[in-house]
Amino acid sequence: MIISLASRIFATTDKRLLMKMAWNFGFKGARSVQKFKSRLKQGEYFPPFLYLSILNSCNLRCQGCWVDVDKPQVKIELDELNRLVNDAKAHGNSFFGVLGGEPFMHPELLDFLAEHPDCFFQVFTNGQLITDKVAKQLRQLGNVTPLVSIEGTEVVSDERRGKPNVLSRTLKGLDNCLEHKLLTGVATSLCQTNIDDLLTEKWLRTLIERGVHYAWYHTYRPVGPQIHPELALRPDQARKVRQFVVDMRAKLPIALIDAYYDHRGEALCPMVTGISHHVSPGGHIEPCPIIQFATDKITDERGIYETMTQSAFLQDFRKTASEHTRGCIVLERPDVVKALAEKHGAVDTTIRKTAMAELEAMEPHGSQFLMHDEIPEKHWMYRLAKKFFYHDFGAYTTFDANGKKPLQPAPKKEEATSLAS
Ligand code: SF4
Repeated sequence: MIISLASRIFATTDKRLLMKMAWNFGFKGARSVQKFKSRLKQGEYFPPFLYLSILNSCNLRCQGCWVDVDKPQVKIELDELNRLVNDAKAHGNSFFGVLGGEPFMHPELLDFLAEHPDCFFQVFTNGQLITDKVAKQLRQLGNVTPLVSIEGTEVVSDERRGKPNVLSRTLKGLDNCLEHKLLTGVATSLCQTNIDDLLTEKWLRTLIERGVHYAWYHTYRPVGPQIHPELALRPDQARKVRQFVVDMRAKLPIALIDAYYDHRGEALCPMVTGISHHVSPGGHIEPCPIIQFATDKITDERGIYETMTQSAFLQDFRKTASEHTRGCIVLERPDVVKALAEKHGAVDTTIRKTAMAELEAMEPHGSQFLMHDEIPEKHWMYRLAKKFFYHDFGAYTTFDANGKKPLQPAPKKEEATSLAS
């Protein structure tokens, strides 16, 4: 599998871009994780992977989207973006995730990417605004990998994303990326309406034939103003996703990313381990994209490094969540998220100002934590990569050595007490 994957990527990707990816993401990315680990020993948390939602605007209206896409535009200005990235770079970071809304609606996105040729950016996009011209500019920059989201067949895509002709327009953008030899990925938020079509070997082979280099299966999070709980996966389906990814990694020449498991198949939360945190379109520093509460902003004169490493809110979020689950604290214990936000007097970072009411309305739900049912990595490359660069970094101290401490069942709403106190 490795040789066919490597030769496929080498044959179909711009060589200068590949070199930049190997250096800025590969070598410097690994080094930033080493710096992260050594800081952890001093009890200091600064994530090597920052996710930046640079604006709220989007041309689609997806089910379950937690971003205020229908509200007046709020965006992080270029000078603030550069200040943030320069400070993070000064502390060893070189890889950044760029999200939205739809990042290609930000008028200064390409200028921002051009300012940092010594970094590598993964842009989460619906692909619809990646014209032939834009794809050509991304190739010239050489420091970007577009991760294009596809949420289903034609009918399901329109339904999931609230607009007509979604799939054909997204595929046009995807093909522009591939034609211009960009290292290109496809992401899917697996849910009830697309799991049977997209969690298949047939779909991955379709992506390989099209020239796609990697894929990322997220699982649908029933959060935000319109949560559509009926779309969320059941625990048996969450297990099916994990098994499928492990099997296909050892079989098909397409790289498969996940952020929720270590090499032993133990569940983890990237927010809890501290390997990533999020910045909202309003510049708020959030534990993760769906925890829309904050006590700090990137405009703080201390800069992103000092502000994050000194944040009691982030520290408490990581610690408290680690004591409750190896899965998603938002899905499994929305009551704990509410209690933490109240304890720290955190602001609701949304424009709609309904994040707390949304939390209060949420029913606890299963997540990636497959307790007593871990599925370890099959393929040696993923096993090694995760063993050294992506695991729980010792975050889950309350779980016994085998990570098998029985999970406290989520209390009924009326019993929920301020568990964070
Ligand atoms: S809290 Fe949930 S959504 Fe946020 S990083 Fe953790 S697992 Fe992911």
